[in-house]
Amino acid sequence: MNMYFCPLFSGSSGNALFCQYGRTRLLIDAGKSGKTIEDALASIGADIRTLSGVLVTHEHSDHIYGIGVMARKYGLPLYATRATWLAMEDKVGKIPPELRREIRAEQDFYLGDIGVSPFSIPHDAADPVGYRLWGGNLSVSTATDLGWFAPEVCDRVAGSTLVLLESNHDPDMLKANPRYSAALKQRILGKKGHLSNESCAEALLRLIHAGTADVILGHLSGENNTPVLARNVTSKALEREGIRPGEDVLVEVALRDQVGRVYELKETR
Ligand SMILES: [Zn+2]
Ligand SMILES: [Zn+2]
Repeated sequence: MNMYFCPLFSGSSGNALFCQYGRTRLLIDAGKSGKTIEDALASIGADIRTLSGVLVTHEHSDHIYGIGVMARKYGLPLYATRATWLAMEDKVGKIPPELRREIRAEQDFYLGDIGVSPFSIPHDAADPVGYRLWGGNLSVSTATDLGWFAPEVCDRVAGSTLVLLESNHDPDMLKANPRYSAALKQRILGKKGHLSNESCAEALLRLIHAGTADVILGHLSGENNTPVLARNVTSKALEREGIRPGEDVLVEVALRDQVGRVYELKETR
C-alpha cells in the first residue's frame, strides 16, 4: 500500500498536516479554522468526515485553533499528551470525554492502519511532541517547533521515508526585525524555541545520510524567512556534501497559506 502525505498548512499562522495509509486518514494539528481545514481537505479530495482523528503536537494556538470546533462538529477524536490536554483545556472548549484520547511520548500506538510514534521535542510548551507515522515499510516524520535538533529527536526520525522538518527563520533577519521584542527574539533563538534554516540544513544532512530521500521544509516564519532563502540554505548545505537537491533528494518547502501538494510514498518490496 502507498502512503499519502500533504502539508495543508505549515507555519506560524497555522498548521495542519494530512496523512493517509490504507483506510485510515488523520491530521497532525488543526491550527486554522475548522472551515478552512475542511475546504483544504476537500481540495485534495479528502472529506473531513472520513478522518479518524487529530494528533496534537502542543497547545500553541497555531496548532490547535480549529480542533475544538472540528471535534464537536464531526465527532473527531483528539490525541494529546496529558500535560498538553491540561494546557489547552481552556482554549478548545468542552470536548466530550469519548473524543478525548490521552497519549504519551515514546509510547507507540495504532490509529486504524497507521502506526503512530509520538516523541518529545524541545519547545516551550507543556509536553510537546513530534510524530512518526508508519505503515508497511514507509514512514513520515514531522518535527516542527523545536529549539534544537536533539540527539533523541534524531534517533526517532532517522530512517523515515519522508521528513517534514522546521526551517523557521534566518537568524540575521530575526535579530534585525524591529517588530520583535528582545525577549521574543531570545525565546525563538533559545533551545526551546524554533529551528533556524542553518540548524535545519545540518539536521537534514544527518537524516539524508541515514536514508531519508524526501524532505519538506516547514513552519517558516512569515517575517523572518522566505521560502527561497530556506530552500537555498538547505540546498547549499547538501551540495557541499555532493548531494544534488531535486535529483538525489527531493527538497521542497511547505507554504504557509497555500495547500501543499500530496506526496505519494510507494511501498517497496
Ligand atoms: Zn508552531
Ligand atoms: Zn509552538
